[in-house]
Amino acid sequence: MWRCCKIKNRLVLFSSLRAKRPKFFLGSSSYSDSGLCPFCPGNEKMTPEEVLVVGDDGWRVRVFPNKYPAVAYGEGGYHEVVVETPYHNRALEELSVEDIATVLGVFRKRLEFMYSDGRVKYVSVFKNHGKEAGASIPHSHSQILGVFFEPVDVVKEREFLEKSWDVSRCYLCSFVEDELKKQKRVIEETSNFACLSYYAAAFAYETWIVPKRHVSSFKDMDKPLFMELASALKGVLLRMREALGVFSYNLVFKDWWFWNKCHFWVEVIPRITHIAGFELATGTYINPVLPEDAASQLRGE
Ligand SMILES: [Zn+2]
Ligand SMILES: [Zn+2]
Repeated sequence: MWRCCKIKNRLVLFSSLRAKRPKFFLGSSSYSDSGLCPFCPGNEKMTPEEVLVVGDDGWRVRVFPNKYPAVAYGEGGYHEVVVETPYHNRALEELSVEDIATVLGVFRKRLEFMYSDGRVKYVSVFKNHGKEAGASIPHSHSQILGVFFEPVDVVKEREFLEKSWDVSRCYLCSFVEDELKKQKRVIEETSNFACLSYYAAAFAYETWIVPKRHVSSFKDMDKPLFMELASALKGVLLRMREALGVFSYNLVFKDWWFWNKCHFWVEVIPRITHIAGFELATGTYINPVLPEDAASQLRGE
C-alpha cells in the first residue's frame, strides 16, 4: 500500500512482508563508556563556555556552542548543544514533566536569541538519542542549529502549509480534527495536543505530536502548554519503550517562528529500521509497520 505525505511531498510504501526478514529491527547498540563524559557536572571545561544555564545550586540544563559545529559560531550561523539533565544515565523520558518543560522553555529562549540575528533564516531543533540515531555522546542532549539560509525541504513544507491556508484553512488544523474524529491512528491526547501515528510515516512507529488548535511556534507557547507538551512527549516515548524495548530515536521540532500560517509539530522517530539504497535512490521510503497497527500497539492493545 502506498501513501503520500502531502506536507513533505514524499511517498511511502507500507510492506509488512519486509518486517519478516531476519534481523529487520535493530536493537540499540551500547556505547563503550570511557568514564569521562564532557556533559557531566565537573567536566564543564571540556566544552565551550555556556551561553545559558538553568539552576542556581548546580545546573539543571546547560547550553553551549557545539564543539564540532556544522557552521562557525556567529559566522555561518549558530550551532548549540542543550544538555537536558546533569544525570549521565537519565534519558529525556525519565525526567520529570516539569524538567522536560524547562528544556522546552530553553529551546524557546535560544530560538529567540538566534532569530534576533537578522541573518538567521531558519533554526531547527532536534535530538539524537542512541547510536542508531546519530548521537556520539550518550548523556541526554539536544541540538539547535540556526543557519543563514532556508533549507530547501523547509521551503517546500512552508509553501505547502501557506498555500493550503490561502485556499481554505490550515492543513494541519483540519488534519488533526479529522484524525481525532476517525480515532484509527490516535495514540494519546491531552486537552491541547494529539499524539498520532502519522498516516504516511516513513519510519516504523513514527509518531507526530500536533497541537489541536493553531500554534505555529515555541514563541506561541507558555509554561502550562510546555508542561502539557512535555507530558505528551514523555508519554509517547515511554509507550515506545514498552513496545520496542531499548531503542534509538530522533526528535524533530517543527517550529515556524516567523510563519504564522504554518502549524507546529513534533516528530518522534524510532530508528529501528535502516534507510538503505532504495530510499537514497528514490526518496521513497519503505515502512514495514502500518500506522494503524503501530497506534494500536503503542496504545497497549
Ligand atoms: Zn555524562
Ligand atoms: Zn493550524
